[in-house]
Amino acid sequence: MRMLVRGGLVIDTAPTVVVRPETDVLIEDGRIAAVGPGLVADDAEVIDARGRIVLPGFVDTHRHVWQTALRGIGADGDLGYYFDRVMQAHGTRYRAEDVAASNLVGALECLDGGITTVQDYSHVQGSAEFAEAAVDALDRSGIRAVFGFGPSPLAGGAVDPDGLRRILGRVSGRIGVAVASIGPAYAPFEIVEADWALAAELGMPVVTHIDSSEVTPAPIAGLRDAGLLRPDTLYVHCNNLSEAELKLIAESGASVSATPAVESRLEMGGPITARLKAAGVGVGLGIDTVTSGAGDMFSVMQQVLALGHRSFTAAEVLQLATVGGARALGFTDVGSLAVGNQADLIVLRGTDLNLAGGWQDPVATVVTSGHPGNVETVLVGGTPVKRVGQVVSTSLPAALDALTESAAYLTARAAS
Ligand SMILES: [Zn+2]
Repeated sequence: MRMLVRGGLVIDTAPTVVVRPETDVLIEDGRIAAVGPGLVADDAEVIDARGRIVLPGFVDTHRHVWQTALRGIGADGDLGYYFDRVMQAHGTRYRAEDVAASNLVGALECLDGGITTVQDYSHVQGSAEFAEAAVDALDRSGIRAVFGFGPSPLAGGAVDPDGLRRILGRVSGRIGVAVASIGPAYAPFEIVEADWALAAELGMPVVTHIDSSEVTPAPIAGLRDAGLLRPDTLYVHCNNLSEAELKLIAESGASVSATPAVESRLEMGGPITARLKAAGVGVGLGIDTVTSGAGDMFSVMQQVLALGHRSFTAAEVLQLATVGGARALGFTDVGSLAVGNQADLIVLRGTDLNLAGGWQDPVATVVTSGHPGNVETVLVGGTPVKRVGQVVSTSLPAALDALTESAAYLTARAAS
């Protein structure tokens, strides 16, 4: 099956950011087959991209998709408030059907805003039943995902090996799995050793929240001393880590997910992206939670520009949001429009008022001024999941009804 995205202003992201006016993208069997002007493909389905901007889909490297039903409830507090209200008062009341409802709408929200890959850090309960509901919903949405399986930090403990194996046996194709460990900053070290050993045994990446604290001032050095530094680890936040700790991450070949909007709102520490760049650490961006911030990558890119102290150009921020995130998650065929890559791409309406006048520097225009409403078409592996401005992969009204019922249940139970 062939598809031709015809005549768009194509922005690619690797190895450098380039802009190609009036360029076609040919897709064959879900992958990018050619990029150039005037491509001939008579049998291909055509998506008209004239007057539009074509770019790789965004990669969200850290998101608790299960929290979609709780949008906004943590906005007026700090991290302690988030733990009390989101994780404890509501999070402990989730049923598998609540996880399913939030994960489906949350993944559709990602796609609607041009996020084609998400790392779903699912620390709602840690049971296999909940995880199955979560990955089934991700799969239904049509998104590409790395599902992080792990316990709630409130419950503590190591990742359940049997539950993890059940999930591994359930996923394929667009959905991968990672060990979501509570990690050395927040768990006793025997739990860290168990989680890291499980990941090594199964050949899986590790994702973990991490920061320094009075109890654990140097968690990365602790991993080094135990021989547990590995390249396929994604550390989340890191706002208060020392330069020496960031250097250790860089030397290990691991990456960091920065979620600047939520880190700032929850007062988790100073902006980290510029320090990561200076330390030579691979960086991806994340939304983290819609309980405290917006769920789209445009607003996160705008936060990086605002908080980055001029350390990043707009083009570099676009790389963080696409190919940088893909590399942080271990993908080599996602995040740019290179021939052979997965055809994960988005088409923005260049004629929308908030993008008007931006043809001299379309990269800066997308990064500084774009929003999800500009996203007209989204492809994941060459399959359309949004067309003519509407998500198409599943019934949106039914998904929204289920989320409304779930939110009503969670709110009622939390109040009683
Ligand atoms: Zn998080």
